[in-house]
Amino acid sequence: MGSFKLGRMTLRSLFKKPETVLYPVEKRYEPEGLKGHIAVDIKKCTMCGVCQKRCPTGAITVDKEAGTWTINRFDCIQCRTCVRDCAFDCLTMEPGYQKPATEKFSATETKPEPTDEELAEKARKEAEKAARVKAALEAKAAREKAAKEAEGQ
Ligand code: SF4
Ligand code: SF4
Repeated sequence: MGSFKLGRMTLRSLFKKPETVLYPVEKRYEPEGLKGHIAVDIKKCTMCGVCQKRCPTGAITVDKEAGTWTINRFDCIQCRTCVRDCAFDCLTMEPGYQKPATEKFSATETKPEPTDEELAEKARKEAEKAARVKAALEAKAAREKAAKEAEGQ
């Protein structure tokens, strides 16, 4: 590159707006699909622990007993594996980066206690399931009895 061209470029850049921004004070716009941070819909989470097992950096911790889902955003590399592998669709990749900090820290979400309606719905589903199992066992017993009777004739 000739020195004239280089000089012209240097002069032009002196009066141009910088390409960089003063992050985090200034932010660029966040395009759709930006891999910013992981969000959890804790109400839908079943505490199965799959996201913890699949996370390649160990950024997620699921404590089923305590009903907590924890992420260390400084360890997350935004690979999206947890979003892909959660069978209950409770994880999403949202725009917006973790703000810089001088020390790593985690964010914890706690599963809320089920409401009376949710408990009633759960009991109803369990009763339905038990009735289906009972009916299937009775049908099986009846088939076996009929088969034995047929053998005896
Ligand atoms: S995989 Fe989904 S349902 Fe299972 S613990 Fe993680 S967020 Fe919860
Ligand atoms: S996006 Fe990747 S690194 Fe981040 S929490 Fe999910 S699995 Fe772990």
